[in-house]
Amino acid sequence: MSSGFPEVTGARFFEFLQAKGIAAECPACHQRRMSHAVHDPDGTLGENAPAVRVQQVLAGNTSLGYGQFPQVCLNCGYIRYFRDFEVFDFFANKSDDDGEG
Ligand SMILES: [Zn+2]
Repeated sequence: MSSGFPEVTGARFFEFLQAKGIAAECPACHQRRMSHAVHDPDGTLGENAPAVRVQQVLAGNTSLGYGQFPQVCLNCGYIRYFRDFEVFDFFANKSDDDGEG
């Protein structure tokens, strides 16, 4: 099912985080345990498993809203989210520029 968005796998989301200089350290407990969830019910996709994307919709208008990629601290349970637009934009520009680092 195509939504018009590039597929963001767990590996690609990690690539985005690294490119943006986002630390794996939890802001709450300061352990390096931030992890992102992927959808891999059979446990066979590995790093090609799609990253979990949570969608927020405007009440009463399901066509308006935005998505978020969550990260969860495996130590204390702290959750943070990254808006999907910036993640999609990162990969869109990356394929346009090809080779730009
Ligand atoms: Zn934590």
